[in-house]
Amino acid sequence: MKLLLKNANLLDMVKDFPEIKKRDILIENNRIAEISEEINIDSDKIIDCKNNLVMPGFVNTHNHLAMSVFRGYKDDKSLMDWLNNAIFPVEDKFTEEDFYWNSYESCLELIQTGTTTCNDMYFGMKNIVKAIEDSGIRAVVSWCITDSSIGTKPEETLEYSEKFNNDENSRIKVYVSFHAPYTCNPDTIKLTVDLAKKAKTGIHVHLSETLDEENGIKEKYGKTPTEYLRDLGVFEVPVILAHGIHFSKSDIEIIKNINGGISHNPISNCKLASGICDVVGLRENGIKVGIGTDGTGSTSTLDMFEEMKLVAFLQKIKNMNPEAIKAYDILKMATIEGAKVLGLQDEIGTIEVGKKADMIIIDTKGLRFTPMNDIATTLVYSANGSDVLTTIIDGKVLMENRKFLVSDEELVKQHVRENAERLL
Ligand SMILES: [Zn+2]
Repeated sequence: MKLLLKNANLLDMVKDFPEIKKRDILIENNRIAEISEEINIDSDKIIDCKNNLVMPGFVNTHNHLAMSVFRGYKDDKSLMDWLNNAIFPVEDKFTEEDFYWNSYESCLELIQTGTTTCNDMYFGMKNIVKAIEDSGIRAVVSWCITDSSIGTKPEETLEYSEKFNNDENSRIKVYVSFHAPYTCNPDTIKLTVDLAKKAKTGIHVHLSETLDEENGIKEKYGKTPTEYLRDLGVFEVPVILAHGIHFSKSDIEIIKNINGGISHNPISNCKLASGICDVVGLRENGIKVGIGTDGTGSTSTLDMFEEMKLVAFLQKIKNMNPEAIKAYDILKMATIEGAKVLGLQDEIGTIEVGKKADMIIIDTKGLRFTPMNDIATTLVYSANGSDVLTTIIDGKVLMENRKFLVSDEELVKQHVRENAERLL
């Protein structure tokens, strides 16, 4: 299968500064085969990108795909009240079908707004994996363990990791996960670490999200949540740490040495009033920081453009300095830096020959892009997810001119509406 993109204004995200080049891009099967000023070759499909921008798809580093059904449900609560009284009781009632259709809806929203890779953590895997496979998105998936669901088929994680992690052409990569320090005792966490080592993979976990978590763990164990995880061996494997808001100075010294990075989720953190992650400080310490949306319940939309804008604004306000972080840094966090957090930087995150063909075409002809004095600031401060025209993942065109080509959007929405009616 050969797919040819003609006349692209290419922002490949390779350099340390934004640079637009006029290029044709040839995709063969799932990889980028050639990038040149002009390519004339017989191909199965040609997309004319004239006057539009082609860039790497976004890498969304923290998701709970099956939570789409919670969009707008019991908002405006604190994290612990929201989890214990709104979310956990309903999640217990999820059927296999609920996991599938809710996850499918999230996948479609991600694809529609320019995300090509997501990183899921949830209480189940089979039907979420099926939704990921059917939608065409790329994903890291992890079975989330807590004290109350300990032992729920860790063997399934091993089976999936063996199936997917050893296949270089797989769109799915398997991690393991425990929910958070405050929902997992040392035995649960040790079990997860052992599972990660056995599966030769990493751990995805919520860490340092709220002050309640910090205070609770200090009271119970006499150490910070980060020290608690370090002492249980969590950082001996690659880690994706969601939130990372309340790190102490000594926590930073620990985090500096991890293999992996932080997933910063600004909308979720604002909505739940969890706090402001010190993105600038973490990056100054050489810690990789990607951007995530978190689940639909705590973020309401999975549009990475909205997250990018808020990353910038929060850091400027936190530092009371408009130069604290630049728009192009934010674009890097949303693409190649996010790929590094997930350990996928050799495959995705930039548009380069040999990498997997994950890219988006953005319509730059509208009012929000006129005039386009600076591509990075226009994308971060002006654009939104509805400017994404076409999304290509693993060499397949999943959405073209805003229309899904492989998924039935109406069918998926109908199922999620029915799920919401029954569950909520
Ligand atoms: Zn989360």
